[in-house]
Amino acid sequence: MTDCLFCKMVNGDIKADVVYENDQVLAFKDINPQAPMHVLVIPKRHISTINDLEASDTDQVGQLFMAAKSIANEMGVADEGYRTVMNCNAMAGQTVFHIHLHVMAGRAMHWPPG
Ligand code: AMP
Ligand code: ZN
Repeated sequence: MTDCLFCKMVNGDIKADVVYENDQVLAFKDINPQAPMHVLVIPKRHISTINDLEASDTDQVGQLFMAAKSIANEMGVADEGYRTVMNCNAMAGQTVFHIHLHVMAGRAMHWPPG
């Protein structure tokens, strides 16, 4: 998608502060962090929302969580704990329409989330 912010990061048109990458996913620091550690993990292939997922995307979605696990380990927050969130559409607060898994750590998380 040419007009998608996160596709532009995958293509290198917009610079991202990359913390993890493999052939399927890219992970970078959130520009407006909501916790001491706040990383976004995205599939390199454009998928707008969770509602657009197909059965064939199952591995892709699994890769997001595998990346989150690696990043949490690498950043030393795996044992203390971290929050993963994926918002779907406006009411949930989705603002960038290329799916992304938020991975946040470094402070106590509250429940229910706001
Ligand atoms: P959401 O509201 O769930 O769609 O999350 C979108 C996230 O993208 C927000 O946490 C933003 O702070 C983040 N974001 C927006 N623009 C950028 C950017 N250029 N680089 C890194 N993160 C960004
Ligand atoms: Zn995209």
